[in-house]
Amino acid sequence: MIDPVTRKPSSALLEPDEPAPVEVVNIDGEGTAVLVCDHASNRIPQRLGSLGLDAPQLAEHIAWDPGAAEVARRLAAELDAPLVLSGYSRLVIDCNRPLSHPGSIAEESAGVAIPGNRGLSPEERGLRVETLFRPYHNAIARLLDRRVGRPTLLLSVHSFTPVLNGRARPWHVGVSHGRDPRLAALLLEALGSTGDLRVGENQPYPIEEAIDYTIPHHGEGRGLPSAMIEIRQDGIRSAADAADWAARLAAAYRRIEGAARRLCGLSGGE
Ligand SMILES: [Zn+2]
Repeated sequence: MIDPVTRKPSSALLEPDEPAPVEVVNIDGEGTAVLVCDHASNRIPQRLGSLGLDAPQLAEHIAWDPGAAEVARRLAAELDAPLVLSGYSRLVIDCNRPLSHPGSIAEESAGVAIPGNRGLSPEERGLRVETLFRPYHNAIARLLDRRVGRPTLLLSVHSFTPVLNGRARPWHVGVSHGRDPRLAALLLEALGSTGDLRVGENQPYPIEEAIDYTIPHHGEGRGLPSAMIEIRQDGIRSAADAADWAARLAAAYRRIEGAARRLCGLSGGE
């Protein structure tokens, strides 16, 4: 579609002055890790208003992963890793859900009804897919294409709420895997070996193909060693705490990097 005034391609969902659906940081990073942050932002496109929610609801976990982008940016700098961040809230479309999953465009999340997601037409759904979901995943795919033949370990960075449904979650950090547990096993050991952290394997969530999209599609789909890192949100409320966590994760990663490279099965990578 062409905007009749500016003659530039226009989007029916985003205003011309709104942020892009995806941000790629340090695209030429030479480290072995590639980082992705599916739930980096709680931004809603202006044309969708607030989806019928109030500001406190949009600040909460249902809209994004508080603190995750901050940790991911600092970790990217520590590891000289490329990082891909989604630009809009998971409530508009969740970039880590298969499009067939009811949580892709959730009508309800954690008991909160999302009025702006109810009764959408196929065209409205398609617009969100094409404007937000596809550009994010295309950016990850292009980045991974550029790195074919180089050791590449895919890590997604998330955060989780300290309490869910009245239940405290005891882990400071969780590392999850799908079909390929190898990278997660190395990270779990490295994080657990410091002795001061409660580390959850496949906690608070495992990776499941029916529910998760990013690691199954880009990691397992390409045969790349991959894992999901989930940090408890009360540990990363301030920028200083996020920096501490990034440094801790970077130190754990460096300890296992040699072994992780070997998982890539490339010769001459050492
Ligand atoms: Zn998340």
